[in-house]
Amino acid sequence: MAKLSLGTRLFLSHFIVMLVGLGSFVVLAKLSSPKMFVLRLEQLEHQGFITVRSARTYLVKGFETAWNGSAVWSIIFGASAAGGLSYVAAERIMKPLNQMKAITQKFAAGDLAERMPESVIPEFNQLGNSFNRMASSLEGVEQRRQELISDLTHELRTPLTVVRGYLEELADGSIQPNSELYSRLVTETRRLERLTRDLQELSKAEAGYLSINLRPINLIDLLTTLVEKFTDQLLEDGPILKLDCPDDIPQVMADLDRTEQILVNLLGNAIRYTEKGEITLKVWRTKQEVWIAVIDTGIGISAEDLPFIFERFWRADKSRSRYSGGTGIGLAIARRLVELQGGKLEVTSEIGKGSEFRFCLPTV
Ligand code: ADP
Repeated sequence: MAKLSLGTRLFLSHFIVMLVGLGSFVVLAKLSSPKMFVLRLEQLEHQGFITVRSARTYLVKGFETAWNGSAVWSIIFGASAAGGLSYVAAERIMKPLNQMKAITQKFAAGDLAERMPESVIPEFNQLGNSFNRMASSLEGVEQRRQELISDLTHELRTPLTVVRGYLEELADGSIQPNSELYSRLVTETRRLERLTRDLQELSKAEAGYLSINLRPINLIDLLTTLVEKFTDQLLEDGPILKLDCPDDIPQVMADLDRTEQILVNLLGNAIRYTEKGEITLKVWRTKQEVWIAVIDTGIGISAEDLPFIFERFWRADKSRSRYSGGTGIGLAIARRLVELQGGKLEVTSEIGKGSEFRFCLPTV
């Protein structure tokens, strides 16, 4: 019975109700009509009717009375049996529906913890399962939203407190304005600026609003331009930036601006966390993909920290990254952008030795 579809169940229950109704009518009629008829005949015998002919009117009447009597009983029994059965069938269908109604009302009121229980009717089970999946995903979204708000408040509060502190001290004359102070204020406001810009990008990327315009692109041109741009930013005693790319790299299906954004984030990090040594932009191909890696000889990331680095606002060393202007959002954006282009972003790193961030893009 558990495997029957809802349609079959409804059809069967109606059919059974009809059979029970008809059956009890027939059985009762069959059982009681002859008895009642015999009773009527005996009454007639007592009244002195001898021939069937003379008793015809009375016989017909007797049959009618017997039939009417048994029909009334049959209808009473048949209707109550069929009614009872219909009630049970309706109850079995209405119960999960009412449960679902109650749960959706709780959902609307903000209580996302409730789930649909298992049902014996497969259709309701499927509906319940989809509903539960939707509930879990909503719960996840809600949780992430709350985390984001609390992270965000934390991130905004720090620079704001620093700026307010300086301004208050300047206002009451306890410190004298000087260029160093102003540049610290500028650093903090820049941080706020970067934070809001990164957040905007991240929210667009996470909500899937970022338009991704995939078309065949030539990686060598993009990588050469980027290496030139970043080399200009490197300090004289800082790391050197190299491009290691074979000439026969095929075109990839990607969004030029988004790929540039990923590389800017990865190269920016490599430069930020590498004091000296090398940063290599390496490219190689596999059967259906082209891999691009940013390899540095910087401070590296410990094995315990590695699983968290793609989480937004996560920083290995909060005070150091804050000082260096990091927001902890760059890698979250980079990963989302890689995924939106059909690739994946991976990392290997060893503390004190350096890190390798690599991602792939599909070839044309
Ligand atoms: P941030 O803006 O702080 O750099 P990211 O999301 O780009 O934020 O990076 C998150 C954290 O991962 C950084 O704070 C840093 O601790 C670590 N990290 C990222 N890239 C590197 C790297 N190349 N070398 C060492 N640590 C890194």
